[in-house]
Amino acid sequence: MRSVETNPGIIKNIRKVDPYVPGEQPQRKVIKLNTNENPYPPAPGVERALREMDTDRLRLYPDPSANDLVSALAEHYGVGRDQVFVGVGSDDVLSMCFLTFFNSEKPILFPDITYSFYKVWAELYRIPYECPKLDENFRIVKEDYYRENGGVIFPNPNAPTAIYEELGFVEDILIHNPDAVVIVDEAYIDFAGKSALELIGRYSNLIVVQTFSKARSMAGMRIGYAISSPALIRYLNDVKYSFNSYTMNQTSIVCGTEAVKDRAYFEKTTKKIVETREWAKEELRRLEFEFPDSRANFIFARHPRYDAGELFEALKKQDIYVRHWDSERIRQYLRITVGTREEMEALFAALRAYLCYTKNSRREFRR
Ligand SMILES: *Cc1c(COP(=O)(O)O)cnc(C)c1O
Repeated sequence: MRSVETNPGIIKNIRKVDPYVPGEQPQRKVIKLNTNENPYPPAPGVERALREMDTDRLRLYPDPSANDLVSALAEHYGVGRDQVFVGVGSDDVLSMCFLTFFNSEKPILFPDITYSFYKVWAELYRIPYECPKLDENFRIVKEDYYRENGGVIFPNPNAPTAIYEELGFVEDILIHNPDAVVIVDEAYIDFAGKSALELIGRYSNLIVVQTFSKARSMAGMRIGYAISSPALIRYLNDVKYSFNSYTMNQTSIVCGTEAVKDRAYFEKTTKKIVETREWAKEELRRLEFEFPDSRANFIFARHPRYDAGELFEALKKQDIYVRHWDSERIRQYLRITVGTREEMEALFAALRAYLCYTKNSRREFRR
């Protein structure tokens, strides 16, 4: 049998992509500070809903409009049900947005250092794109987005820098882009500050995308959503129904609805993470790490005297997983998810031991 690899007729017609590389999910128990998951369990109502779930209901297709979940979100955020779109994690929602809204000949714009999935989708859907550079302090330069484009997308706070820009910054980008769809990816907004949801009523070209994976402790359930003007949500739904009517499974609809209803639990766990983050910043400073001020549930830090790749490997040997990218401009940085206070204590103990040990052994070698 002829192998596909030697068959140019087949090879030339294959859509070839460099896929997104997710963080590791080790199957052993480790201190996992590498994929920005929440260290606390989902709201108690989620466990109750799972236990009481009627499995006979699984014979049937789920509600294609995911009405219960859409209604719960609409009520929570004080918007119309026709302003909410839900999907299988915000990755699904964002991917649908790329497919629906980014069809111009002009390039879409997103920062050079940002969520690396944007580039993957642009390549997958063959959308032209340009990536304005973050400034030397890793800030987005808003003026770079004041030009003709086929659409704009950026996270706020940005990833992996964790830098949050105030609403006025977001609004300036909207004011300069009345003829393009502007997507603000707010995966980390609950740890940060004001959401661009406040601007939805005034800018019909704005789409705000959020997720259950971070502040709502439900990365394993895969739920994300977009909130926008009814017209854009309609177009998004048309594409979704042309792709897969049943993106949201029954379990996700039920559990997601329960999670949204428990505002108190959500606020309590989010506050705990923010407190741990502020304490972790102090500890990192004490160890002489440098980092942009984080407003997310992770800190993007470098040490002026220790190689990030080596630190990453040393921590991994101790079963402490953080994230490191061997790519230009950020190679000397580690992205450290804020875990529980105990997990962070373990991280700092390992860092102290490593920095101290390496310093001593280096001294031995000094001539
Ligand atoms: C985590 C993350 C997402 C995707 O989250 P889902 O788990 O797919 O909801 C999207 N954007 C950014 C910037 C993220 O960090």
